Amino acid sequence: MNFEAQLEQIPLKLYNTASRQKETLVPLVDRHIQMYTCGPTVYNFAHIGNFRTYVFEDLLRRAIKFFGFSITQVMNLTDVDDKTIRGAIANGVTLDEYTQPYKDAFFEDLKALNIEPAEYYPAATDYIADMIAMIEVLLHKGIAYRGGDGSIYYAINKFPRYGCLSHLHLEDLQAGASERVAADEYEKEHVADFVLWKSYDPERDGQIYWESPFGKGRPGWHLECSAMAMKLLGETIDIHVGGIDNMFPHHENEIAQSEACSDKAFVKHWLHAEHLIVDQKKMSKSLGNFYTLRDLLNKGFTGTQVRYLLLQTHYKTQLNFTFQGLDAVKSTLQRLNDFVQRLYEVETAKAGGRIEALEQNALKGFAEALADDLNISAALASIFDFVREVNCLCDAEQLSREEAQTAIELMKKFDDVLGVMTFEKREEVIPEDLEDAFAKRLQARQDKNWKLADELRDFIHQRGYLIEDTPHGARLKKA
Ligand code: AMP
Ligand code: ZN
Repeated sequence: MNFEAQLEQIPLKLYNTASRQKETLVPLVDRHIQMYTCGPTVYNFAHIGNFRTYVFEDLLRRAIKFFGFSITQVMNLTDVDDKTIRGAIANGVTLDEYTQPYKDAFFEDLKALNIEPAEYYPAATDYIADMIAMIEVLLHKGIAYRGGDGSIYYAINKFPRYGCLSHLHLEDLQAGASERVAADEYEKEHVADFVLWKSYDPERDGQIYWESPFGKGRPGWHLECSAMAMKLLGETIDIHVGGIDNMFPHHENEIAQSEACSDKAFVKHWLHAEHLIVDQKKMSKSLGNFYTLRDLLNKGFTGTQVRYLLLQTHYKTQLNFTFQGLDAVKSTLQRLNDFVQRLYEVETAKAGGRIEALEQNALKGFAEALADDLNISAALASIFDFVREVNCLCDAEQLSREEAQTAIELMKKFDDVLGVMTFEKREEVIPEDLEDAFAKRLQARQDKNWKLADELRDFIHQRGYLIEDTPHGARLKKA
């Protein structure tokens, strides 16, 4: 079956936060997608709430590739902002010394969660010159100005499209709009001119500052993403993604900065993942209701189990974290992996002739669900239907070894998107005393010592093994 040609025909529809509609993904150039994903602030270990967003982004990336596009993905590392500076000062270390262990931990966690590496992981501190250049353009255009505290701010009323992503109406916010906000993070009620360059305060910032034409200081968080996205991907990009809390003010401010600089549309397609919640509250550091991936690995769960838990709920639905949910994942994954092992063990020689239709149907169901704004539950349902149907074929010995091989290929294709299955052939280790009993039984049968042969067979059965007749002779098999 030629999977690739079939899949390229299916339009991939994704919800666009900007238009509040599902739209077909049409790349700006050829069949290549440029995607920017807001990465972690490396002031601490990322929690599994953060990873819900990153696992979703990985699903999106893999789905884009599944439908035959190539992709360049950037995920930034925010290594300078209010929180990292506060952490470095509190611990009496440099910013680099403070953030490096969290950067390292983040990459370890990505690996454990089987998240495909992005093409670029720019650290904000390596792009300060690009941020300064953008501020100069904004000052030159009269969109940025110096505030009384010496910091440079973005005048949101100079950008008429301000609010286009979060659907805010500037005219309704006149009172707020005349204020300024110097903090990196703030809520919708505080919509205001936001900081582009935060001027240095020795008491607050210790030795952490950069020189610039506007004096010592450091960039605002929102500017960091604009600068890195445009530098690495260009002025207009296909897709920009983040958690829903990033939509305002972070992404709104990114649009304002980038579009005012370039006079071009910044992003075609915005996607936002809903939160992982605990008891109806967002999982977050500030509420203290969080688990890091390490916490869960230490409790004996695997990265794959956590990945599946985060993956199996549609990204636009809040996902309530519970340990029961995580426990349930274990048996789900076992079902998939046992199925693959069973396919490896098929030895029937005669083709049943029914597998191709089942495969076509499963692939169609999976692909169409995925193409419908990544409808993961329907996509998974297609796979589990396929597993059930093929298990029936195996039971009825209507699946040949060659046919089983094509079913394995299809499961691999599904797993290119899911990233949760194991395709290593399990080598069954049979206890030595059983091998011994098995050999003795063969000898007993040759010697026509039926009594001993039966005793040995019973011994083997009691230990949970069967003696299976195959075309190549008898062998031991777990019952
Ligand atoms: P931060 O390190 O706080 O900048 O967050 C990194 C990413 O994780 C952002 O895209 C956030 O929107 C996302 N995020 C934070 N908390 C959660 C949560 N509870 N559920 C899902 N995503 C989250
Ligand atoms: Zn960002």
